[in-house]
Amino acid sequence: MKIGVVGAGYVGLVAAACFADSGNDVVCSDIDDEKISMLKKGRVPIFEPSLDDLVRRNLKEKRLKFTSDLQEVTGHADIIFIAVGTPPNEDGSADLKHVLNVAREIGQGMAGYKLIVVKSTVPVGTCDKVRSVIAANTKGDFDVASNPEFLKEGDALRDFLKPDRIICGVNGDRAKSLLSELYAPFVRTENPILFMDVRSSEMTKYASNAMLAARISFMNELANLSEVLNCDIDNVRKGMGFDPRIGKQFLFAGIGYGGSCFPKDVKALVNSAREHGMGLSILEAVEKVNQSQKEILVGKILRHYGGNIKGKKFAIWGLSFKPNTDDMREAPAIPVIEGILKKGGTVAAYDPEAMPNAKKTFKDRVSFTEDNYAALAGADALVVVTEWNEFRNPDFAKVKALMKGHVIFDGRNIFHPEKMKGLGFVYFGIGRG
Ligand code: NAD
Repeated sequence: MKIGVVGAGYVGLVAAACFADSGNDVVCSDIDDEKISMLKKGRVPIFEPSLDDLVRRNLKEKRLKFTSDLQEVTGHADIIFIAVGTPPNEDGSADLKHVLNVAREIGQGMAGYKLIVVKSTVPVGTCDKVRSVIAANTKGDFDVASNPEFLKEGDALRDFLKPDRIICGVNGDRAKSLLSELYAPFVRTENPILFMDVRSSEMTKYASNAMLAARISFMNELANLSEVLNCDIDNVRKGMGFDPRIGKQFLFAGIGYGGSCFPKDVKALVNSAREHGMGLSILEAVEKVNQSQKEILVGKILRHYGGNIKGKKFAIWGLSFKPNTDDMREAPAIPVIEGILKKGGTVAAYDPEAMPNAKKTFKDRVSFTEDNYAALAGADALVVVTEWNEFRNPDFAKVKALMKGHVIFDGRNIFHPEKMKGLGFVYFGIGRG
């Protein structure tokens, strides 16, 4: 099939490469010329495991093409996916300018029937707006469908190629049959394509992210109580997770959720409710708990040092908002590092993939090291911010020898408190008595 993808970010690029890999002819566009010129040379501007191989293979086999001219997409494709960003406005609502600009340009350029599919996460009613904008700019025949994306950064290819479910909001049989045909190779294991009305499809994405964010804030709030009551949230988590009604996933306490999705999507849903004169008290609390959880580690640090960390050096392990990505959008590392710097501490940081992005944020206010051990040289304390696998089982004798102080603030509970105590560290986790 002839497919177009507008937006070559974490979602658009994965979608374009995966559609191409299942035999489709894909043209992918972005307004960022630098991104497109890298991609044309087979260089992938983001870190996502195995994505570079997939992009290079499909470029070589000429099923995947990149362009900075959106009209090349419009001319080529029968199905056009809009996968541009929907960042938050000041009031928390989703900024739809990129989506609607793309819709206008598609309308201006299209000839013959097109199916336009909104893959970006958008508030309920956005597909109706996209339809109106296109209709105002074309006399051609078209449908607009909603197809929110559920991939997780760090596991994006597996999620896209073998999705738990595919949600499609459609208005008629033509869109339904085109999307069924396109997605057939991705649902061979019988996971469903759920067709529904467009507005419910838009809502499903927000509802899913809001539920996941709620689980995290719920556990974080209970972790803080567990600390006061002297229990270990990690034992509580295991005890809860075996109940199939609860399930094991997304129950890990930590220093708050970040990334480009949960924070903005929770805010956007709360804002949608507000626009309709309603409150979403649970989600307002989810967001509030998350904000304060991001401050919790700095609070522990300051308490430990009697409020004075001037001149103390902190080694930070992990900068990305979660492991296996270079994405630092809304990463808890940002308030943690800013909090330390504001109080006069110094920071040496290491992350396997996110340092180029972190350098844009912190410039020379943080020193970045070539590996996790180098960050420890002369440090008063180690602060674990992101649970990359390679941090889980370090050589503790080496860690101890490199550090000046022997204090660990473990924001992701990757180490065992008793073991740390046995090794001679002063250990602080999250919600661990
Ligand atoms: P991103 O910022 O990584 O990529 C968006 C891309 O769109 C950028 O490269 C930008 O240059 C491009 N763009 C903006 N305006 C354009 C235009 N007029 N024409 C062509 N390109 C344009 O964003 P992302 O993380 O890929 O997210 C895209 C959407 O998918 C968002 O709505 C997001 O909420 C949603 N989503 C993201 C994830 C995720 O894990 N990142 C998961 C599911 C859904």
